[in-house]
Amino acid sequence: MNNCIFCKIIAGQIPSAKLYEDDEMIVIKDIEPKAKVHCLCIPKEHFALLEGMDESRALIVKRALQKIPTLKTTLGVEDGFRLVVNQGENAGQTVHHLHIHILGGEPLPWE
Ligand code: 5GP
Ligand code: ZN
Repeated sequence: MNNCIFCKIIAGQIPSAKLYEDDEMIVIKDIEPKAKVHCLCIPKEHFALLEGMDESRALIVKRALQKIPTLKTTLGVEDGFRLVVNQGENAGQTVHHLHIHILGGEPLPWE
């Protein structure tokens, strides 16, 4: 068993506030929100970086990007949202399991 916190959340070994789940992904609330709404869309398959994305993983990421806007009301980001995918050290990636941050619920700063 790897020691990945998101794999443990997906396996139900660590509790999370889950807002959506299907065969390929979950959407949960971030435990340390950086905006009024801060969720994470996490593909169930473990891989850390975009360069680890083969064709089948690319399809999962595509379907995640298609799914997110359909969840606008559920997530509370009807008035707009920002997606962020941190990659590597300089971006501050702390969990090495690919995930898409969904930020919104208020006007977001842009610097
Ligand atoms: P990263 O910095 O890797 O792009 O983002 C990791 C995110 O995962 C952070 O925003 C952090 O707050 C969140 N996170 C870390 N551990 C947990 C956890 O156990 N549960 C939830 N819901 N979020 C977590
Ligand atoms: Zn993982």
